[in-house]
Amino acid sequence: MIIDSFKEIVDESSNIVIFTGAGISTESGIPDFRSPTGIWSKNQPIEFQDFLSSEEMRVEFWKRKFAIDVTISQAKPNSGHMVIAKLSKSGSISNVITQNIDNLHQDSGIPSNKVIELHGNTTYAKCLDCNFRVELETIKKNFEDTKKPPLCSKCGGIIKTATISFGQSMPEDEMRRAQEATLSCDLFIVIGSSLKVYPAANFPILAKKNKSKLVILNREKTDLDTYADLVIHDEIGSFLLNSFR
Ligand code: NAD
Ligand code: ZN
Repeated sequence: MIIDSFKEIVDESSNIVIFTGAGISTESGIPDFRSPTGIWSKNQPIEFQDFLSSEEMRVEFWKRKFAIDVTISQAKPNSGHMVIAKLSKSGSISNVITQNIDNLHQDSGIPSNKVIELHGNTTYAKCLDCNFRVELETIKKNFEDTKKPPLCSKCGGIIKTATISFGQSMPEDEMRRAQEATLSCDLFIVIGSSLKVYPAANFPILAKKNKSKLVILNREKTDLDTYADLVIHDEIGSFLLNSFR
């Protein structure tokens, strides 16, 4: 049984990195990008350059942000997140590297310093010039009143959610920490990612080249399935719960 093979690989590993994508959060009600009901079935992403150069695009960005927030702000960790949190408490998981921006790993009880957010976090915003942190509530109220995109109260810079858009440079510290974790693990488990977004998808490749085992758990095929020691095409929450209840 595939579940036994999975448990065996996990049990015999002592330094595990979990790498998650949007697929782990669909069971919490947050749509992923590439599934038929995903976000891209409705809207193409706004590239960073367009966000910077056009006020109209920034207005569109914040409109979309507050629309999706009705879902994101109410989302709770699901059984997939909870099983990972439980394994993390048992000590064999060194880090959770996530492409997600929804804060659900932290909400599931994993300490923030173990979660490496490659694409940032959408539950707060920052000034792109001076890094000043701004809470969404304040931005939302002003945006509804003025219909103008927010500017920094300290330096006048452009405010954006603390996420990484397409075309925006990757966060250096997180990239370094993710690389260190990947190079020291003996098992790298991908959960709920199509592995189509780079440079994030380089980490499973790096792990494998560095002699770590690679497991991929995803409903459908990914581009890196042929590299993996074990591929599980299943629903994330139920599979993880059945494996480690
Ligand atoms: P993706 O949409 O490209 O891939 C998600 C994969 O998960 C798909 O292959 C899909 O088949 C699979 N999947 C969805 N629900 C599943 C389930 N319940 N069980 C098993 N498999 C399931 O997402 P990605 O690879 O993370 O890349 C897209 C980018 O989207 C990331 O950079 C991320 O920043 C961003 N994103 C984040 C969120 C979030 O924070 N929750 C949501 C949407 C997009
Ligand atoms: Zn500023």
